[in-house]
Amino acid sequence: MMPHNSAMERYHRQIILPEIGIEGQKKLGDSTVFVQAQSVESCALLLFYLAAAGMGTLYCDFAEKQGLASLIRQIGAFNSGVKIQAVQPGCENLPGDTGVGVIQGSLQYVAQPAVDCSGKCIPLILAANRGWQGWLQFIKRPDDLRAILFKRGPQPPRGYNMPDDGTESVFSSNLLGALVAVEVVKILLSLENSAAYGLEFDLSTMRFERYKGSKACPASIAHPCITSGTPGLFPGLITTADTQQLAQSRVAVVGSGGLGSPALYTLAKAGVGTIALVDYDQVDISNLNRQILHSETRLGLPKVDSAEVFLRQLNPAVNLVKHNTCLTEENAREIISTFDLVVDCVDNLKTRYLVNEACALLNKPLVEAGVNGFEGIATTIMAAHSACYQCLFPARPSLDYNSKYGPQGILGPVAGVLGTIQGCEACKCLNKKGNPLLNSILAYDGMEAQFEIFRTEKDPNCPICAKR
Ligand SMILES: [Zn+2]
Repeated sequence: MMPHNSAMERYHRQIILPEIGIEGQKKLGDSTVFVQAQSVESCALLLFYLAAAGMGTLYCDFAEKQGLASLIRQIGAFNSGVKIQAVQPGCENLPGDTGVGVIQGSLQYVAQPAVDCSGKCIPLILAANRGWQGWLQFIKRPDDLRAILFKRGPQPPRGYNMPDDGTESVFSSNLLGALVAVEVVKILLSLENSAAYGLEFDLSTMRFERYKGSKACPASIAHPCITSGTPGLFPGLITTADTQQLAQSRVAVVGSGGLGSPALYTLAKAGVGTIALVDYDQVDISNLNRQILHSETRLGLPKVDSAEVFLRQLNPAVNLVKHNTCLTEENAREIISTFDLVVDCVDNLKTRYLVNEACALLNKPLVEAGVNGFEGIATTIMAAHSACYQCLFPARPSLDYNSKYGPQGILGPVAGVLGTIQGCEACKCLNKKGNPLLNSILAYDGMEAQFEIFRTEKDPNCPICAKR
């Protein structure tokens, strides 16, 4: 018997990656994930990426429920095949077929319900963040979570509410959301190969550490009085003056697709005042496995119009400038010239070189990223004093590169990881905070949950950026 039409369409809308296959995609569609989070706002991106990856059922329990009805509506419009439902607090209310549990919030929040969940014996991901920093721990058999959570780190004072509402927390909670969604896919498909592992990161310094086994949450996340890193190197939090600076800033985002969606989400959420949307494409069903700004209800609309609908809802204060056009040699400089910074989220190499050249000529900082399958890279360029895209990748591929080699399949939340990093890098540059990825390429391997940084150098003979 042929499967029902809507079920066929649902499988069709996912990208079948070699690592996942049709069977894997069906398995995801039959899976149930439980998400317990401190607030709707802090884990919205996680839920969008779980829906994008084609999860069957999402059970949610939020301590702070503001925005819940609206989020459930949005997820339903984004992927009508996913069942999303709020459940009563407490893991005893979970259906028996729940495949993975996710607990996300401040460490205090994460530590508390985790103890209740341990009786359920489902694989668990704990995800805590504070300021620029985040911590993710996967445990296959949650025997004694309290011991893991606090075995090394200091306990926060009782009743203390951790300050977790800074702009920098937008970056760390969004990154955690995308990272957790990648891990959920791997766990459900048995692609992860260790019983327990974890990841710590600091987005201000771009420090990432992946470890095997389990480890306590870093003291700087666990304890409100401890700051991270060496004194003098710690770049500090985003201040009120920085927030005002972001509100006055103008960022052009080229491409509103896989990378553009999380980059735009992060920039609008962080409070960047004016954002240019540059895209010539229309929303197609095949985009929705990764492009979370769009939805089934906006199929056929220009992507810049569809993105506008989403971003206005996310942050009504943001001023959006739409360019429903392809970036070309003729219009690139004119479009970019009135903006402070450019975020390149395109899916083809020709436009990447074009954006790089225009930014070098106009002396604009440029944040670059690319994704493929379970992997991605990101870098930040200030062509006057750092390596540009041409320095990093000097061989210009022929124009038929894409038809020859791709585009390859992309796991949606992997684009979420890199696009969020782009949004974070853009705000760091605008605020002159932290260490951006200048002369550095950050490489993410989602299959290994691993980040690596490669140092690069400016090419003294680069035709684009030398002697600028
Ligand atoms: Zn160069």
